[in-house]
Amino acid sequence: MSEELRELLWYIVSNYTFGQQREIFVEKCAEAIQAAQKLKRANGTADYEKAISHLREEVADVLIMAEQMRYFLGEEKVDGIIKSKLERQIERIKEEV
Ligand SMILES: [Mg+2]
Repeated sequence: MSEELRELLWYIVSNYTFGQQREIFVEKCAEAIQAAQKLKRANGTADYEKAISHLREEVADVLIMAEQMRYFLGEEKVDGIIKSKLERQIERIKEEV
């Protein structure tokens, strides 16, 4: 996420509580799951492009909310977990080769 986007996000975060944003995070994750499933059904039909646009919107919503959750839960702690998970996955890939 760019610095410009992070500044916009900071403004939002500072106007809401963790509880409020946690609720929206849950809603947006559910909407993204539905959009991802809908895309599967739209595969090979005239609705495919519409389904892709919809999923794109829902992914954007999830990222906006996930970034806010990262802030509320501790950016350094979350980033530390991300780093160890990425490293672990890279190790798994290397083991498979
Ligand atoms: Mg939606």
